[in-house]
Amino acid sequence: MTALPAPDGSVAAPAPAAPAAGKVPPGMQYLYGSGEAAALSYQAYLGVIDTIIAKSSDRAVGQAVFSVVLAPGATLDAPKFESCDKKPLAVVLDIDETALLNLGYEADDSQRGGPYDQSRWERWEKTGAGAVAATPGMIELARVSKASGVTLVFNSNRMATNAKETEAALTGAGLGPVEHLKNLWLQGDAGTGSAKDPRRAAIAAQYCVIAMAGDQLGDFSDLFNASGLDPVARRGLAQGRAVKMLWGHGWFILPNPVYGSGLKGDLDTIFPRDKRWTDPGPTPVAPVSAPAPTPTEKK
Ligand SMILES: [Mg+2]
Repeated sequence: MTALPAPDGSVAAPAPAAPAAGKVPPGMQYLYGSGEAAALSYQAYLGVIDTIIAKSSDRAVGQAVFSVVLAPGATLDAPKFESCDKKPLAVVLDIDETALLNLGYEADDSQRGGPYDQSRWERWEKTGAGAVAATPGMIELARVSKASGVTLVFNSNRMATNAKETEAALTGAGLGPVEHLKNLWLQGDAGTGSAKDPRRAAIAAQYCVIAMAGDQLGDFSDLFNASGLDPVARRGLAQGRAVKMLWGHGWFILPNPVYGSGLKGDLDTIFPRDKRWTDPGPTPVAPVSAPAPTPTEKK
């Protein structure tokens, strides 16, 4: 249907089209439906399991074990990590699209379209515990960590006011036991807002954090979310001389093409100008003419 012009003759921009019933956005097809994403998650969590085995062995023979949480005052250019002394070993995990896949919320969102709605998300936190699933590899990680005496500690931007419901979501998915402020830190605990460094520091004060896992760079350090960083600068930080060595070696990242800080940038931000190509179109094929007959072939 064509929009009628306003009385002044202008035509309003069309409203975003509602998704076609039953269609699922490509990022969701990938994250929640593909074998590729399941394999990536296993790749991350098997790496965490390897780390648990290695660091537990180090601890058992009296080798010093270092935290993978950036020490106070450290930067991404010059990261520093502290020795753990005798603190108990722990793995720190984000929750959403890291430990849990929010299948119910995203199924609803896929059919609804439109912008993010914080109040809808909060209703999901309160009532969606039964419609989540453990991310592939998480059940195995929970089993190995329990057997090794390594605590799983969750650091999430879900609201502290919904702690009971989030405990139920994690426990129901097979990732318990979980107890708020023991091994579950939420937005509102240790400072306000979505910054995770204050909570990471509180966790690192109690535990020797041998691995961290998340689907956003802020799950590793808030320094990745400094204001004014465009996607190019952020990507540079993730590939910095020291930071790049942490991926798969203490810091483990999960795929998330559905939402979050990785989904930003226009053409000029994403594609370097010296790496552009424009399709020249089909190359005309030179007409092939029959070779001229040699004199002996003349009849
Ligand atoms: Mg997350």
